[in-house]
Amino acid sequence: MRYQNTYVNLDTRLYHEQPPTPLDNPRAGHFNTQVAQQLGWIEDKELMTNWVEIVSGQYVPASFKPLAMAYAGHQFGQWAGQLGDGRGLLMAQVLDNDDQPQDLHLKGVGLTPYSRMGDGRAVLRSTIREYLCGHALTKLGIPSSNALGFVVSDTRVRRERIETGAALMRVADSHIRLGHVEWIASFAPDLLDTFTDYMIDTYYPEYRDSDAPVAAFLTAVVERTARMIADWQLIGFAHGVMNTDNLSITGSTLDFGPFGFMERFNPAWINNHSDHTGRYAYQNQPAIGHWNLNVWLPHFMRLEGVTRETLADCLAPYEATFMQHYQQGLCRKLGLPHQRESLGLAFEWLTLLEDNLLDYTNSFRALLGLVAPADHPYEQKLLATMTTELSSDAQQVWQDWSARYLAQIEQLPLEQAVNDMQTNNPVYVLRNSMAQRAITAADQGQFEEVDRVFRLLANPYSVQDIANDLDSSAPAPDTPQVPISCSS
Ligand code: AMP
Ligand code: MG
Repeated sequence: MRYQNTYVNLDTRLYHEQPPTPLDNPRAGHFNTQVAQQLGWIEDKELMTNWVEIVSGQYVPASFKPLAMAYAGHQFGQWAGQLGDGRGLLMAQVLDNDDQPQDLHLKGVGLTPYSRMGDGRAVLRSTIREYLCGHALTKLGIPSSNALGFVVSDTRVRRERIETGAALMRVADSHIRLGHVEWIASFAPDLLDTFTDYMIDTYYPEYRDSDAPVAAFLTAVVERTARMIADWQLIGFAHGVMNTDNLSITGSTLDFGPFGFMERFNPAWINNHSDHTGRYAYQNQPAIGHWNLNVWLPHFMRLEGVTRETLADCLAPYEATFMQHYQQGLCRKLGLPHQRESLGLAFEWLTLLEDNLLDYTNSFRALLGLVAPADHPYEQKLLATMTTELSSDAQQVWQDWSARYLAQIEQLPLEQAVNDMQTNNPVYVLRNSMAQRAITAADQGQFEEVDRVFRLLANPYSVQDIANDLDSSAPAPDTPQVPISCSS
């Protein structure tokens, strides 16, 4: 691997050098060969042979520089003060095959000075959810952390009950969170200048030579965050805990805990059962992204030449960037051009889904069964299921809507519409119930289901033989949801 361990050269107040505390009797859970390839890990015999020892914290290769980062954050809208890596360690920074910086971050390997009341561990349940979700989002084409692999162990971890300890080697383009800057502003303001330079040089080098590098960098963070959240909305992803310590400065999805993928469409859906007020409900995500950036940006006023007006200009593109990306994506999901008539149809369609509690993923995909039935037998079945779920009033609404929709489609080259629909409407997302089945088997020491779901989600836009009915069916409207909370 091409190591580029630069964080360890920053001011020592920003981190604590910390070796991992190993897990007992680790065993392989799953390994992502493609990620290993992209990192250059696969070409290193020492790393390949010892990956279980490395991921369990039993062995630290000489080129790794394990450290816990300090950061702070606003959690559920409140200033939370110092947080930091309480159970994760930045193990190494590398350049991948595309010359992109990647962090290797080991989660679940023991106490650090930032552990507060925690035990420094991660349980198997949340490790599998994070492993599969990073993979799912990456393959859906959404900027996200991913993982190299995870291990399971004999270490017991106490949550609501005693659970199995596990560890995950996370790979992300950066682990710098909005909360890093909040920490610096509160605890070491003299470092803001050099830390900002570091963020630009490492993650936004294209702005180094611009007339106003800081403003260009901040605007890029704002725009990337807006696009990431638009991607989430389009795919039906709810992050669940969008605190400022969980948002990356690269606009890449980070920190999977109480996340979920939308099933029956309800914009007010709260996946995280610990989120009693619904702050992080699906429909609130765009506004929360703005809220987070808005508490983050003012810290940069400490820098010379950065004024309140500069920062207002940096934040201003948020809404337009979000809207542009979201609306364009919504039109593509319907196979329509990005224009007013298409958006009108799109919003009527979403209302139909909401009024009838239809499955978000399946319903969009079902439209291929309407637009090009001959080539889409799977989607024709989805369409049949969907229409049987419509209330009698809604049948007429659907007839009327689909006639107007087809009239729009007929004005376009069919191939283009079909291509847009196929590449923007997944067949498979990581439903909570799918992750749960993989977890239940893994709790019994069986990892075949993790592997099957992993392979399924590697090609989410294609119908696959390894799928079963449960992978693509929404729970009945009155079934209790898999309880998902902040506990992990
Ligand atoms: P999260 O909600 O997972 O993003 O975590 C918020 C903060 O709590 C971060 O500083 C974590 O490192 C810390 N944390 C979460 N769980 C644990 C744990 N089991 N032990 C130590 N720190 C933890
Ligand atoms: Mg976090």
